[in-house]
Amino acid sequence: MASCGGSSGTALIWHEGFAGRGFSPIQRSWPRYALGYALLRDTGLLDALHVHRPAPARRRELLAVHSAAYLDQLLAADRAGSGVLDYGDTPAWRGVYRRARLVAGGSLAMADLVGRGVVAHAFNPAGGLHHARRDRAAGFCPVNDVVLALRRLQHRYGFRRPAVLDVDGHHGDGTQELLSEEPILTLSIHQYDGRFFPRTGSLEEIGSGPGAGYHLNLPLPRGAGDRAYRAVLERIVEPALNLYRPDILLLQYGVDAHALDPLVGLRLTTRSYQAIAALAHRVAHRHCGGRLLVFSGGGYHPEAAARCWAVLLSELTGRAPSRPVDDDPSVPGEEPDAVSRTLAMLDQAEERLLGPASPLRSG
Ligand SMILES: [Zn+2]
Ligand SMILES: [Zn+2]
Repeated sequence: MASCGGSSGTALIWHEGFAGRGFSPIQRSWPRYALGYALLRDTGLLDALHVHRPAPARRRELLAVHSAAYLDQLLAADRAGSGVLDYGDTPAWRGVYRRARLVAGGSLAMADLVGRGVVAHAFNPAGGLHHARRDRAAGFCPVNDVVLALRRLQHRYGFRRPAVLDVDGHHGDGTQELLSEEPILTLSIHQYDGRFFPRTGSLEEIGSGPGAGYHLNLPLPRGAGDRAYRAVLERIVEPALNLYRPDILLLQYGVDAHALDPLVGLRLTTRSYQAIAALAHRVAHRHCGGRLLVFSGGGYHPEAAARCWAVLLSELTGRAPSRPVDDDPSVPGEEPDAVSRTLAMLDQAEERLLGPASPLRSG
């Protein structure tokens, strides 16, 4: 475990409003927030955290990423109390705009707490809304709190080399689109076959203009699990981060790549989430003075999501949970064919993404 030099400590962003209705229409996933909080309390991890209650983001703060016309539309949809925010995935309801502002406020609070050096690490269990664009909602994401936090870190605190690592089971398409023309490293690891939502995230998508070569996608076949993931982390993710040398790291820690998740066909267990948390923690201490913001992202199996959050916070705080939070052995394993297909993808990825032509090599 890395030690925390400089500022230290880990903040948990928590508001009682998080425990209400979520943005997805999948009702059985909504209890994950309350369940996650209860698991942190019951395992003693909460005692090792600085709990911070956020204020809802103001409209002018959301304008750093979103258009005024779109925010008007969100507010109108909230007032109407029915319908959808996008093409049909994301319902509108009375209170949806307030929840979006609250989640965004939580992620802006992480930027402030870590940017000012109050804590080294922070986690927003309601954040990670990586599909939202400047002008539209998508995939249960009304606002992009990841890029909102990143813009604050750049503009208010002067960070010049932020990096975004997105391990959600779905491609981080909104984050990539908002940053694609900028030389900011984004890495997304996700299920991909050209049809799976949101249908993007192939190896060929690398950004454009000054951003070309800075936006890396690692597409995984259905059935890929811990072995495949370990190879992706070792062969591409950590080398790319070490070449780029971020001054602050943002981790979209979507836990819907877990084997029990009902929406994604990947087969990660808490062992992979432990490896992801350890990698991000190590990289943050190696390059960023420890500065690490974590956004929870997707996760539609509440018990699995809660365990993955506990694994993360145990890693960041160095506190062992008072009882094990690992998966039990009945969790399904990966498909051997998916491992060999992932290893073949990585042979291509090493050449395309980290070869001699990569701008990451010229610093
Ligand atoms: Zn640390
Ligand atoms: Zn997802």
